Amino acid sequence: MVSRVIPVDPFDLVIFGGTGDLARRKILPGLFRRFCAGQVPSDARIVGAARTDLDSDGYRQMVREALAEFGRDIACDEGTLNGFLDMIQYLAIDARGETGWAELAELMVGKGRVEAFYFSVSPALFGDLAERLQHWGMADEDSRIVVEKPFGHDLASAKELNATLARYFDEKQIYRIDHYLGKETVQNLMAVRFGNMLFEPLWNAQYVDHVQITVAETVGVGGRGEYYDKAGAMRDMVQNHLMQLLCLIAMEPPARFDPDAVRDEKLKVIRSLDPVLPHHIARGQYDAMPGNEAEMPSYREAVDHPRSRTESFIALKTHISNWRWAGTPFYLRTGKRMAARSSEITVIFKDTPHSIFAEDAGRHRNVLSIRLQPNEGITLGVTIKEPGPGGMRLIDVPLDMTFAEALGVDGSDHVDAYERLITDVIRGNQTLFMRGDEVEAAWAWTDPIIEGWEARHDVPKPYDIGSDGPTDSTEMMRRDGREWRKVTP
Ligand code: NAD
Repeated sequence: MVSRVIPVDPFDLVIFGGTGDLARRKILPGLFRRFCAGQVPSDARIVGAARTDLDSDGYRQMVREALAEFGRDIACDEGTLNGFLDMIQYLAIDARGETGWAELAELMVGKGRVEAFYFSVSPALFGDLAERLQHWGMADEDSRIVVEKPFGHDLASAKELNATLARYFDEKQIYRIDHYLGKETVQNLMAVRFGNMLFEPLWNAQYVDHVQITVAETVGVGGRGEYYDKAGAMRDMVQNHLMQLLCLIAMEPPARFDPDAVRDEKLKVIRSLDPVLPHHIARGQYDAMPGNEAEMPSYREAVDHPRSRTESFIALKTHISNWRWAGTPFYLRTGKRMAARSSEITVIFKDTPHSIFAEDAGRHRNVLSIRLQPNEGITLGVTIKEPGPGGMRLIDVPLDMTFAEALGVDGSDHVDAYERLITDVIRGNQTLFMRGDEVEAAWAWTDPIIEGWEARHDVPKPYDIGSDGPTDSTEMMRRDGREWRKVTP
């Protein structure tokens, strides 16, 4: 199948933090991949802007190296690569000083096309950048800003950040990135839910036993120790990514697939979440790998904080208090240094009300599994008769609803989340971005949980590297007569 690539209009994209890790690993390779696919017009302009003292030639060399390292899979010839590099220039700029701003303002003057400013810098600089963009006349109605996570540390700081950005930009101009929303499968989830008659009638507490959302990582905190130890899994993953996935699973059908209709429904889900009880939470911290402590140190050693009480793993149970979901638990789980890298949402349907088969036919349930990484895809487990003689024995088989083979989709059709989201920014489509009130509502739910731990001086339980987390997490499920899906690569 040939995918339809519709080029975006010419644009100017300024990447503040253009020499940083995110720009080199995701933003620039993403733009290059879209350029190779014919989606980025050659008269677009990309401006790297950072504190590093470089000229445009030096920056283009840095981009070339970044593409060689992080864009190895992109099939493009040297001529195309040079065409992409020709679109790029660099300005040394200080978000908190005066360096570079006059030059940037001059560069942006009077083109009359979309101008996007990607804030790929520390959130502490978001306010400074917004203020200077306005001061230098670049915060006009054609301009958009893209802001990265973390968006605040708690409700108070998120409100403050929203208020700061709102002084210079309208909500319609602010694109808060949650790259989980840019994943192909997440959009396919919406297509499957709202494009078929089959699922929606069953999508409620009457038919769904429970929902599990797992985002398991094998990496440790790496070089982010200082930031991570102040955040923990709850702030770093649950408040944003897992809650966004929960919203898409649980929301009512929006009237239209448009930004406010979708985000209104997501907001209602967050506002319907019950507070989480302390015994519905399992927190953990990974231990060192025995015999390989140097390469795989414990969490506390990795963050250089011997008495840290920050969690690198969390599992929790919550309920959504509305007519659709009352009584159906939602289990969320995320952690570092787990058995496998795997992000999956699973909807586990209830047992049939009565089995007509003999007991040894076994107990079978339909399970809808939405896999975000690796091997993106959606499968529905259906129960069938085991083929062959020997009586009526039932087995579960996965029905592949991604239909990659049938559609002839291969790796070259792959669009990374960042690529999709950047093209959405250029097109002015905010559907897959978080609105300010959603972020605040998510913090309003998260804050009391974290404050509870702090008040109780809660200490996370240790867990083995390469495991599924602390035993508390398994116990929490066992008490409910359920079990976690195995974390598999
Ligand atoms: P980084 O430390 O690698 O890069 C920071 C960039 O900001 C550099 O280009 C630096 O020159 C620039 N900078 C610093 N101070 C500046 C100033 N005063 N004026 C102008 N430029 C300045 O950081 P990163 O990992 O690229 O992260 C950038 C943002 O993206 C952060 O908000 C981070 O939380 C977020 N983020 C990063 C990742 C990731 O995978 N790296 C993932 C999700 C979110």
